[in-house]
Amino acid sequence: MAATASPTATATPARGRHFFANPGPTNIPDQILRAIDRPTIDFNDAGFLPVYREVFDGLKRVLGTRHHLFMYTGSGHAAWEATLTNLLSPGETILVVESGYFSEEWGKMAAAHGVEVQTVAADWRHGVDVAQVRAALEADRDHRLKAVCVVHNETATGLMIPPAEVRAAIDAAGHPALFLVDTISSLASLEFRMDDWGIDAVVGGSQKGLMNPTGTSFTAVSEKGMAAHRQARLGRYYFDWSVMMTRHPHDSFVGTVPVNAFYGMREAVRLLEEEGMEAVVARHHRLAEGVRRAVAVWSGNNGPQLFCTNPARVSDSVTTILMPEGHDPDALRRTVRSRYNVSLGGGLGVLIGKVFRIGHMGDLNEPMVLGTLAAIEMSLRINGVPHGKGGVEAAMDYFAAT
Ligand code: PLP
Repeated sequence: MAATASPTATATPARGRHFFANPGPTNIPDQILRAIDRPTIDFNDAGFLPVYREVFDGLKRVLGTRHHLFMYTGSGHAAWEATLTNLLSPGETILVVESGYFSEEWGKMAAAHGVEVQTVAADWRHGVDVAQVRAALEADRDHRLKAVCVVHNETATGLMIPPAEVRAAIDAAGHPALFLVDTISSLASLEFRMDDWGIDAVVGGSQKGLMNPTGTSFTAVSEKGMAAHRQARLGRYYFDWSVMMTRHPHDSFVGTVPVNAFYGMREAVRLLEEEGMEAVVARHHRLAEGVRRAVAVWSGNNGPQLFCTNPARVSDSVTTILMPEGHDPDALRRTVRSRYNVSLGGGLGVLIGKVFRIGHMGDLNEPMVLGTLAAIEMSLRINGVPHGKGGVEAAMDYFAAT
């Protein structure tokens, strides 16, 4: 007999639809699964090139940009790395606006490439005071800071930073730094307008609001960003935008173009535009608010509470929930998964063992959210976690009234 049994060997087979409530990757709608399910063709084939162009044009509309777009085979980290290495030179300094685990990781990546990282510190539960970004830029009289990096939606803490306010702070300081924004968990969920908000480089990925499999990511770049790129000397090749521009007719991807991913992305853009971007954003807000109403009820009786304490900064694509002291969020997640076939996100970095996360982005509606909330509320009871009763009822009340 084996010393350790495989966890799946003894688990009861799950029945019913798996509810995937992680904050990325997200549910892949059947339309996208069907769109991807096609035989391989050459990425230079005349039948594929129009699909390729449609995806580039469509993604630019979703991003709100008329400028440049480069895509990579790789998850969001690839786009982070591509963006840093294409825009910066060794020894240069960037200003990272702290929001949580992902802003820290992006900063660590920059440091690994020999970039100096200055941070605008922030309380993870309340969010940065944008006046401090302005103050840091004003203090930088000789313009040492080459870029300001912001994670629009911090997937770890469930907190968002308004890019337009950061842009206004950069302008008010009269600082020439590039403005870099990570939209990995905000694109196609929260309002996003790259050009209107004066963003120089936007980092995005396929597996969240775009409802596609993980593995495609991209950077949209302004003209100012392209000018900076021509001077940037950090090492790169697979990710080099100038090398990509020699790869005609695609002008992106140094290697093989992931043809099937493009069918999926094309379908995502079609689904988003069929619903309408404003309606997509409104739906995410409504679903998020329903989740928040439920958590507000659970927080009674010293129960789990919203991690984000600033109502102006709560995320509409992910809710991070702080467990009461002495109660394990991962035990709760295990109950939710094993009893109800629902998957939730866990804590990241220093929040491991303190929080759990509900993803509500992408292909999702009210009954799916209510199912997830019900599974959590039942599991709070099963696990003996103190909480106020009636969270699901509060979400239903809200959904029925909006
Ligand atoms: N940035 C944010 C805001 C994220 O949520 C994630 C992943 O969840 C990343 C970056 C890293 O992306 P990936 O895991 O696709 O490499």
